[in-house]
Amino acid sequence: MNALGAILHKTELTRDDLVLLLGLRDPVETACLRARAQEVMRAQVGDSVFYRGIIELSNVCACDCNYCGIRASNGKVERFTLSEAEVMDGAAWCAEAGYGSLVLQAGERGDPGFRDLIARLVRRIRAESVRPGLPQGLGITLSLGEQPLETYRLWRAAGAHRYLLRIETTDPDLFARIHPEAQTLAARRQALADLAAAGFLVGTGVMIGIPGQTLEMLADDILFFRGHPIDMIGMGPWLAHDDTPMGAWTQPLAPAEHLQLSLNMIAAVRLACPDLNIAATTALQAMVPDGRERGLAHGANVTMPNLTPVHARGNYKLYEGKPCMDEAREECRGCLMGRVASVGRTVALNQWGDPPAFARRTAEGESSW
Ligand code: SAM
Repeated sequence: MNALGAILHKTELTRDDLVLLLGLRDPVETACLRARAQEVMRAQVGDSVFYRGIIELSNVCACDCNYCGIRASNGKVERFTLSEAEVMDGAAWCAEAGYGSLVLQAGERGDPGFRDLIARLVRRIRAESVRPGLPQGLGITLSLGEQPLETYRLWRAAGAHRYLLRIETTDPDLFARIHPEAQTLAARRQALADLAAAGFLVGTGVMIGIPGQTLEMLADDILFFRGHPIDMIGMGPWLAHDDTPMGAWTQPLAPAEHLQLSLNMIAAVRLACPDLNIAATTALQAMVPDGRERGLAHGANVTMPNLTPVHARGNYKLYEGKPCMDEAREECRGCLMGRVASVGRTVALNQWGDPPAFARRTAEGESSW
């Protein structure tokens, strides 16, 4: 076995190993990384792909993240909040389509009306999505930013059981450069701890290829994932949005390098954290049409078909080139099924798809954050 082969088969990768894997460029070596990530994925989480239908229910946001197209200061975006009926219609469609799980995502809002709307929607979706194949109704993931612990508890009690909150980067200086002063890495870490305390399965992740981000920083992100009770990772390339402060930043990586780094990151996370769920995100598809398939081929096992009504999608543009902006959910279903099949995988229908990591931790006695 050569040096790379030995690293790929280690049970505990070091920071230096991770840096080496993230930096691979040679096609023969990246193919070895991809093959090993697939092997580990099959052994640890299986071959199936789990769907989370995603409804982007509001682009109203109190935050001003320097990278994000729906940041509060972007006056060019028309703000929307879907009606309760529209969200319920999307949830019913999701259950009928057999997707098994739903993500409700929005900008960050702390107003009591929004907090109560989410609690009500979660209760209704759980109750009204019960079907013969889905006796507990849809699994619900929330992705609604930093909230007080009481709000997390309210939403958990209402019946949501997973929450996705990306740490974006674990490097303090980089975090400070891409956020306004009011948003801190300490608060983001606390919010993740609060989510675990509230009883959520916690998902997190980072943006990849932010100018100034080094391979060492990304390796540290992976060590952070490995060192905490995390169940899901959603990562994608940082992509510029013209109407944000970072829209004018120069991307030092050539597009092909940026894509390869993003795929290496997925594969490296699969090797370092073998039994959690990893999403092949839409941002990968913004880089190349088969981006999601490539994510799946590098060890990802989750993907998120977009169920947001087409009339709202144009106003939930986080970065330039976001794909599927005018595809109805029916078209997305056919297209994604084909994409998953093209990499020889099948979709696990009517399942929540919680990762083995969760069952393992529960059996071991819940580890605290
Ligand atoms: N408000 C919630 C939150 O902050 O977690 C959910 C919505 S937020 C728009 C979802 C994710 O979009 C962020 O965690 C961020 O990583 C990603 N995102 C925003 N702008 C992006 C960009 N320009 N490129 C890539 N990802 C971006």
